[in-house]
Formats: sequence, structure tokens, C-alpha cells
Amino acid sequence: MGYLKQIDIENFKSWRGKHIIGPFMKFSCIIGTNGSGKSNVMDALSFAIGERAASLRVKHLRDLIHGANVGRPISDTARVAVRYCDDQERETVFCRIITGQFYSSAFKNKITELEKLSIMTKVQNCMVFQGTVELIALKDPKERTKMLECISQSREYAAEYNAKKAALLKA
Ligand code: ATP
Ligand code: MG
Repeated sequence: MGYLKQIDIENFKSWRGKHIIGPFMKFSCIIGTNGSGKSNVMDALSFAIGERAASLRVKHLRDLIHGANVGRPISDTARVAVRYCDDQERETVFCRIITGQFYSSAFKNKITELEKLSIMTKVQNCMVFQGTVELIALKDPKERTKMLECISQSREYAAEYNAKKAALLKA
């Protein structure tokens, strides 16, 4: 399944200059006060995987440049690079850049188009957005446990765990 290791950001939304977000764990949660930039982290990831402006809460992609929200973009360039690790800890870096009116995406590793698509899809599946958290909280407890077991991959140990627990209770 792999996981997101790190995001390298430059002049994107609330980040002025170069910043590193991470390294993340296999399961990471972003918390912070209102307006602190939690959704901007998700926007950065969404931007890197190629989302359009409408899904990124802006009219034009250039509005994502730091300061553009108040009509004073700090630069005509912004960049988001995402480091993704597969289960064998092999790192893939892909980035998307805004340069003036142009946008470009690139993978640093030499991989096939199919591998690229597979990584993008995995990254997309890794993200849980704000509204979804509410949906998760409202799920019935059994459904929620099942979902968390799937995400953490602990479900495959459930049978073994239950058998050991039953044996202990018997003893
Ligand atoms: P909430 O808990 O309310 O959902 P949040 O932590 O998700 O808040 P974000 O929406 O990620 O917050 O961040 C909002 C902040 O990002 C605001 O302070 C806004 O001014 C800033 N911001 C958004 N776009 C830009 C930009 N282009 N340049 C500079 N700052 C920006
Ligand atoms: Mg938010």
C-alpha cells in the first residue's frame, strides 16, 4: 500500500518560501486551530496529484501562490513535491509547479506510466478530507472498527488475535 513520507513546499498557499512537512508516519493525522493550514496541506497534496483549481478552493491555479489570496503573490512560482514510499521503502518523488501561467508535473524517478498512475491513485486513496472525518465519526461502531482495521492492515491479524484471546479466557 505504501505511505506518504514528506511534502516539500515552496510559496504554496500559506507557506512563504521553502518548507518541509513531515516526515509522516504510515498513519498521520493533521490537527490545528481554525485557519492554521490543515486543509492547505490537503490542497498541497491534491495539487501535486493534478487536481484542478475548483477542487482546490480557488478560481485559478495561480491563486495558490503565497499572497495571491490578497492580490499580492510573492512570486510567479509555487511548487509542491511529494515523497511517496512503497512497502519496500522505495521512494518516489513527484512534483507539480506553477510558473507564471503554466503548470507542469514531473516524476523524479524513471518509472512507467502505469506505475505513475498507480502511485497517484494510492496517494489519492491515502487522503481523508475534513467532511469525511464527520462521516467516519457518525458510522456505527462496528463499521468504524472494520474500516480502521482495514486502513491499519491489522484486520489480517484479527482471527489470530481472537483465537489467542479466546484461549486465554478459557485458561
Ligand atoms: P479550519 O479548521 O477552519 O478548516 P484550516 O486549518 O483547514 O482551518 P486552511 O483553510 O488550511 O485552515 O488555511 C486557511 C489559511 O490559509 C488562511 O489564514 C488563509 O489566509 C491562508 N491562505 C490561503 N490561501 C493563501 C495564499 N494564497 N497565500 C497566503 N495564505 C493563504
Ligand atoms: Mg480546513
